[in-house]
Amino acid sequence: MDNKEIIRLTALELSRKIEGGELTSRQVTDAFIERIEQVEPQVHAFIVTTFDEARKTADEIDKKRQDGEKLHPLAGVPIAIKDVVVTKGIQTTAGSKMLEGWIPPYDASLVVKIKEIGMPILGKTNMDEFAMGSSTEHSAYGKTCNPWDLDRIPGGSGGGSAAAVAAFEAPLAIGTDTGGSIRQPAAVTGTVGAKPTYGYVSRYGLVALSSSLDQAGPCSRTVIDSALLQDVIQGPDYHDSTSQLSSEVTAENSNYQAALEGLRIGSENDGLKGVKVGVVKQMQEGFAPEVFARFQEEIEALEEKGAEIIEVDCPHFEYALGAYYLIMPSEASSNLARFDGMRYGQRVDGASSDEMMANTRGAMFGEEVKRRILLGTYALSAGYYDAYYGSAQKVRTLIQKDFAEAFAKVDFIATPTAPTVAFKFGEKIDDPLAMYMNDIATIPANLAGIPGLSLPSGLAEEGLPAGIQILVPAKSDDKMYKFAAAIEAMTDKLPEPKGLEK
Ligand code: GLN
Repeated sequence: MDNKEIIRLTALELSRKIEGGELTSRQVTDAFIERIEQVEPQVHAFIVTTFDEARKTADEIDKKRQDGEKLHPLAGVPIAIKDVVVTKGIQTTAGSKMLEGWIPPYDASLVVKIKEIGMPILGKTNMDEFAMGSSTEHSAYGKTCNPWDLDRIPGGSGGGSAAAVAAFEAPLAIGTDTGGSIRQPAAVTGTVGAKPTYGYVSRYGLVALSSSLDQAGPCSRTVIDSALLQDVIQGPDYHDSTSQLSSEVTAENSNYQAALEGLRIGSENDGLKGVKVGVVKQMQEGFAPEVFARFQEEIEALEEKGAEIIEVDCPHFEYALGAYYLIMPSEASSNLARFDGMRYGQRVDGASSDEMMANTRGAMFGEEVKRRILLGTYALSAGYYDAYYGSAQKVRTLIQKDFAEAFAKVDFIATPTAPTVAFKFGEKIDDPLAMYMNDIATIPANLAGIPGLSLPSGLAEEGLPAGIQILVPAKSDDKMYKFAAAIEAMTDKLPEPKGLEK
């Protein structure tokens, strides 16, 4: 098998071939490294690559396999990690100049899990600074290009992870999703991305953006690959009390088993008989015509497979974006206070410590980060707390109530993931509100803490990919994978991204 074929295999296929002795982890890792070297000048999905470490892990896994050790199915399958996740000994910048050159002394809990099973880490992927944005244009390390059209954005904030997966630079990647940063990049790059239930994956070692919303999750090219990866990273962690929500993954409750089952029912005629799918009354408008058409076709196909389509009323979704842009900046303004020129990263000196802090923050934070710190500080200030942060929290409760009422009637909710296909660089960068609108369909899930997954629904405007989003109640991640895999099984596979040479 040559390298061109190897990089096009899914993580599950790679895992089977490595387990079966048909490929070694070293061969697979080298194939992806060759691909990265070949396309990175065009895509720029990575801030740093860690090829030596990746090869070392691959060799160790191959040796263990030779010795007959029992290994995890994903052992030896390479992965890329968003640069907001701290990695011991490897520069972690969160896309900011503030952290340029910062080498963390520890691994995030999810990285510990990835290392424990022996997945070679290829590098750290590009992102909007401190995960604020929907296009990766806010990165201090240059833009990442969408493999479908190099003049277009790969989504954000996790555009690097999504682009790496779409460009066959990695079979799997880690993203983080505070308002849509896994799902929206997945939609516009024709890949799969999932935000687990809040608390399912430990936040220990994520550079914090908005602690009550942040959640790490998988990026891949197929639903079952994301399921496999979530099984690896989820589970209770001593370092993050919210992760206690999650239970240990077992063979019975694994997302992987659920996705397998989903693939089966998706290919059967009446496979979805009796399943109730909600479409949100408030999410019928504001989408590009072809993006919405692809969504409608999926809904019709679900009906043909026996699913019952039910309109659900979520009257407070209208306020979700407003509430998010109060809660998120408020928490971010507090979390980002730690970047003071003393504790981490860069420093710009001044005559006093106050001046040093002001100089450092002034020089090292980008425009969007400053905008949100201002917004958040204002929203939290004594006289305005109730009017802004307080009311946003009330809206959050109402959105949770909308979901609870909807899920009393339906098993799943489906929406288009992003309002449009990938837009051109520069199109929205000077218009923050237009940029914020990209997350209109993804934000409610973060506010409610429920899981959400985006998978390709087909090609829309300009022959570019669109995504469909699946939402389920909290702690039903396995059901989400099952249903998403069923949809994947009934949807035509996307062609390869057309922006790169073969
Ligand atoms: N685009 C959203 C924002 O800018 C989402 C970010 C995220 O999920 N990290 O806040």
